[in-house]
Amino acid sequence: MTFTLTPLGTAAPHPQPGRPCSGYLVEAGAAKVWVDAGPGTFAELQRHVHPGELTAIWISHLHSDHWTDLIAAEAGIADGGLKVERPIPVHVPAAAPHRLAGFYGMPDPLDGVFAFHSIEDGADIDLGGPVLTSSAVAHGIEAYGARITYEGAVLAYTGDSGPCPQLTELAWDADVLLAEAYVDRHEGEPVHLTPEDAGALAREAAVRTLLITHVGPGLTPDEATARAARVFGGHTLRARETVAYEIAKRQAEPTS
Ligand SMILES: [Zn+2]
Repeated sequence: MTFTLTPLGTAAPHPQPGRPCSGYLVEAGAAKVWVDAGPGTFAELQRHVHPGELTAIWISHLHSDHWTDLIAAEAGIADGGLKVERPIPVHVPAAAPHRLAGFYGMPDPLDGVFAFHSIEDGADIDLGGPVLTSSAVAHGIEAYGARITYEGAVLAYTGDSGPCPQLTELAWDADVLLAEAYVDRHEGEPVHLTPEDAGALAREAAVRTLLITHVGPGLTPDEATARAARVFGGHTLRARETVAYEIAKRQAEPTS
């Protein structure tokens, strides 16, 4: 059974031509999960799956570059003919339904489209095969990283976060670590990673592959990836839209 990560968008903080903001499709067995719904990602998602095939959506935090395409998806599902048989489970920070009610100017505007579940720190979400553990991270607002396990293989995602012990825990021994590298350097309380932070996290957590994403305007993705690789010293790639990255369990060490 395959376990793959397909970036739908890696740009930050605004979408660019051909590069939406944060969003990823994670497929494992029968599960198809849209992880973060940044602007532009709903269009890219449709290259791969019909919304009715999604088994869940998971949103790391409520900054616009990570979730506002839920509104695009609502239009497609409610009015655009992309019908779903049942509401899609959406795991979000608790404030999301209230915020969306404000946007639409009505209570519960997304009934029949989405079924919201508040994310709890440390709780496991059974995605029907894969299990996703949400971990509160350091972003100045309610924000989570994710650790997704499937048949022994592990994908870790930082979400947006400054360096914190929770990141090391969620990335521990991961086969692939998808890490933001938004800032060139820190000014004040860190709420993002520098490329060096991302590299150090990968090294400390002993991950196999580091994928760099969500690089902010002060850096280029190639520069950020090279800087992270120098600190990590291991397999480091720039996350690219439309590439499917396989999350493969590390080969067992040969026993003597
Ligand atoms: Zn953010």
